[in-house]
Amino acid sequence: MTVDTGRIPNAEADFNRWRDATGGAVTFVFIGDTAGIKVRLGEADPDICAQTVVFFTAAGGITRADITLSPISGTPACVDTIAHEAGHSIGFLGHTSDGGLMDPDGGNGQITGQVADMIRTLYSNPPGTIVKVSQVAKGSLTTRGGLQSVTFVTPPRRP
Ligand SMILES: [Zn+2]
Repeated sequence: MTVDTGRIPNAEADFNRWRDATGGAVTFVFIGDTAGIKVRLGEADPDICAQTVVFFTAAGGITRADITLSPISGTPACVDTIAHEAGHSIGFLGHTSDGGLMDPDGGNGQITGQVADMIRTLYSNPPGTIVKVSQVAKGSLTTRGGLQSVTFVTPPRRP
């Protein structure tokens, strides 16, 4: 996967947690503007930690993902936000309730074994394999200009 971290400190390390958790099943190349996954600081909604929009072709292939971090994403109200959004951007299109990183609020920040296994399985398919989005996405799908997208919004944790 190609990633443009927008020079956000430590973002590469946050992505590489997925490489390590999956035993290298998913790897990242950090490049500039032409990357498939883009991480940006945004002004958007100050009451959320981040928003990730994952785009698909009509056939169901992920084409790109845009991660927007809010100004509070680096505060204690937001847990491992970049790593959580990275999980969505590489194909974890839902949330867990196992207390780990992919819980809606980032849980304890740890990538659980079940989640790592799911990503490892996803990336064991040959490149270009179409995964039916409707089978994996739990968010609501939107269609724009021939591309489907699903948006994940991460709320801050409740004090
Ligand atoms: Zn999420």
